Amino acid sequence: MSRPIRATINTTALSHNLRTITALAPAAKVWSVVKANAYGHGLARCYQALASTDGYALLNYEEAILLREAGVAQPILLLEGFFKPNDLALIEAYQLTVAVHSDWQLRALADYPAKKPIAVYLKINNGMNRLGFSPDKVRTVWQTLKTLPAVGDITLMSHFARADEGPAFIREPLQRLEQATATLQAPRCYANSAASLWYPETHHQWIRPGVVLYGASPTGCAIDIEPFDLRPVMTLSSEIIAIQQVAAGEGIGYGHRYTTTTAQRIGIIACGYADGYPRHAPSGTPVWVAGKRCKTVGTVSMDMLMVDLTDCPDATIGSVVELWGAQLPVDTIAQAAGTVGYELLTSVTQRVPFTVI
Ligand code: PLP
Repeated sequence: MSRPIRATINTTALSHNLRTITALAPAAKVWSVVKANAYGHGLARCYQALASTDGYALLNYEEAILLREAGVAQPILLLEGFFKPNDLALIEAYQLTVAVHSDWQLRALADYPAKKPIAVYLKINNGMNRLGFSPDKVRTVWQTLKTLPAVGDITLMSHFARADEGPAFIREPLQRLEQATATLQAPRCYANSAASLWYPETHHQWIRPGVVLYGASPTGCAIDIEPFDLRPVMTLSSEIIAIQQVAAGEGIGYGHRYTTTTAQRIGIIACGYADGYPRHAPSGTPVWVAGKRCKTVGTVSMDMLMVDLTDCPDATIGSVVELWGAQLPVDTIAQAAGTVGYELLTSVTQRVPFTVI
């Protein structure tokens, strides 16, 4: 018999979230960021729900080829660019748009005998200090790119390091970008989810939202996205597989890191860290059981976790449990475990069956 755990993907919610984000940036086109297997939701399951997007942004060739071979006609952007000069043949064959962030990539493009020009995103390092050319080099790089026969349309791209932390962390980097690129006649693409939600001045011609499409918060805090009409796309659910009546003063689970304070009714749920539930979620992390918010007790095991059912008399073996999703924002669980919703969504493991609704 299969374990009752499952991840349910609500593709209607995904399409809805794309419409919500698109409406926030009416003058911009939208790259739907679907890297990391659509943030753990399954690219093959999700891309059609995003069919109204202007383009798909992702990381690796496998994902790009999957979309092209499925008939996706919109632009596809490789967010980290290419890794070897001989990747350019594949990029040309699949008509991918490619981020260019390093001198060696300029040389590779200069040497490449393209039959059809490749669209390029010129990546500007604006304080993230990860990928990209410094703002003072942008003009020179742009001029170089303009001379290369292999290069087609050029868009200016940057990625904010702290867009989720408030306007003070946008103003200065945005000003620096605007100054460095003031005289360049090219479209701009700067806004991730946080900038798409809160900073219209960053929208320009293209936005690049990721996590909000899946109904999670770029700040890691569920309450921050409440003003927007965003719906959770993934629900991780399971069932109670056993119930223990435990006397006061007993330890629960590995290491006995929780001790019952009174006689407690403990539900055992088929979901553990080997399913992708965070082991660091402490006792007290919310779980939705039979229509009620309950709390975990004890250390999360590989295959199970425990909840206090004392205030949930209706819960029985077989009761459905939501670990995160429609009733319980993934960010709430992530916060309890000291991480962000992004990590939980992308960490559901292969042994969890997915269902699409
Ligand atoms: N653009 C780039 C270059 C990224 O690396 C990411 C994600 O990390 C995104 C856009 C989307 O970010 P978010 O999910 O915060 O919208």
